[in-house]
Amino acid sequence: MADIKDRYDGLVIGGGIAGMQAALDLAGQGFHVLLVEQQPSIGGIMVGLNKVFPTLDCSSCICTPRMAEVAHHERITLLTYTEVQKVEPLNPGFRVRLLKKPRYVVEADCIGCSLCELACDVFVPHEFDYQLGARRAIYIPHANAIPQVAVLDPEHCMFDGACAKVCPKDCIDFSQLPEECTIEVGTVIVSSGLQITPMNAKKEYGGDRYVNVMNPLAMERVQSSNGPYGRVLRPSDGKVPKSVAYVQCAGSRDASIGVPYCSRVCCMYALKQAIMIKHELHDTEVTIYYMDIRAFGKGYEQFYRRAVAEGIRVVKAKVAQITEVEGRDLSLRVELIDEGGRVAEIRHDLVVLSQGVVPGWHPGDVLPVPEAQDGFFEVPELATRPARSPVEGIFLAGVATGPKDIPDAIVEAGAAAMEAAMYLDRTGAARPVGATSGPRP
Ligand SMILES: Cc1cc2nc3c(=O)[nH]c(=O)nc-3n(C[C@H](O)[C@H](O)[C@H](O)COP(=O)(O)OP(=O)(O)OC[C@H]3O[C@@H](n4cnc5c(N)ncnc54)[C@H](O)[C@@H]3O)c2cc1C
Repeated sequence: MADIKDRYDGLVIGGGIAGMQAALDLAGQGFHVLLVEQQPSIGGIMVGLNKVFPTLDCSSCICTPRMAEVAHHERITLLTYTEVQKVEPLNPGFRVRLLKKPRYVVEADCIGCSLCELACDVFVPHEFDYQLGARRAIYIPHANAIPQVAVLDPEHCMFDGACAKVCPKDCIDFSQLPEECTIEVGTVIVSSGLQITPMNAKKEYGGDRYVNVMNPLAMERVQSSNGPYGRVLRPSDGKVPKSVAYVQCAGSRDASIGVPYCSRVCCMYALKQAIMIKHELHDTEVTIYYMDIRAFGKGYEQFYRRAVAEGIRVVKAKVAQITEVEGRDLSLRVELIDEGGRVAEIRHDLVVLSQGVVPGWHPGDVLPVPEAQDGFFEVPELATRPARSPVEGIFLAGVATGPKDIPDAIVEAGAAAMEAAMYLDRTGAARPVGATSGPRP
């Protein structure tokens, strides 16, 4: 890893919105930061969202400038497609072992021209579009990716050299190997974010069997103008859906699937997606089956009322079962709470499961920070120091500590950066980049 120094003031693990904010805030205070992201691009969940609640701002329009700011900051070094293998306390500071996965593309030389991508004949389902769109075996991760550098997927590549022949910078390198390095850092901020509960978490909803039962992140991509279809269509046959259902708490508040807590963002993202469907497809009916609507943030209650005023049907009900019927439509067995528990079978042509939020990373013994009972990192002083981990010098930001929305993730990232800066000042753990000892920069 040619450009990586042996020493940084701060390491940020995870380049979602929280990690980017933490890196910017720490670097803004004069510290040198290494931001490590496991994916080929930074941006986390946010860069794939369509709009954000409650403002309905374009998500990537807000996220992409921040990604660029991180990439161009003079005190931030970005290391993508890299895994953290071990973090060991040095008191003060930490020794960190990193593993950079091979892109089979020389990162420093690639100009992101996409010629390699266009020369590749292999099409595979695209992870960024939750398998609804296609990508090539060599590809730029997505239109807003940072860095705009191609990555080759060795599992699907034919290794026929078609991409190498057209590369104007001669930067395809089939012989690349994983690279390991060990560095020292003064402090660590963990912002490893979220995953959503698996589609098969609740077997009775058939999320893993029925093509028109969608996950909400896939729906974000379907609603995006640069998504797999460019408009809202149902996956099975490309038809415009006439009746869309959202099933709330489809992966939260359910001890039987190990997620007893509320995931906090599902009510709001369902309302947001429902509003966006209505804006695009005026004649489509959208129904949200919910147990409680939790609209807890600034402007959220008003957003809920707006959704109702714009014609979204919100029905207090428990969905017991989803069954695929003819035409790949879905029949929902629903207990209607406001009708004394009457059970009804209601048909929709597209269903979105409002799945829950679970931790993005379970580090095991890679990181000396314990997990709380809910699987997110433990926060011993939650009421007063929400960014502090139980380990001196390691701080936490964003969904790494529990489900939250983007504004809360950003605020917490700022708090983590401030705590980290104070720790560096207090312990003298910051030293100039490249040095193994010396005063704070
Ligand atoms: C369907 C859906 C819609 C949503 N819509 C909205 C909305 O409209 N408005 C809103 O406010 N919130 C919304 N949210 C919530 C929002 O996505 C989160 O608040 C936000 O993404 C949290 O950012 P984060 O940086 O903490 O985590 P993430 O976005 O998950 O980023 C974490 C990053 O860390 C990386 N990472 C993880 N582990 C490692 C590791 N070991 N090493 C290196 N890198 C690692 C990941 O690859 C990822 O890039 C939505 C959530 C969902 C599921």
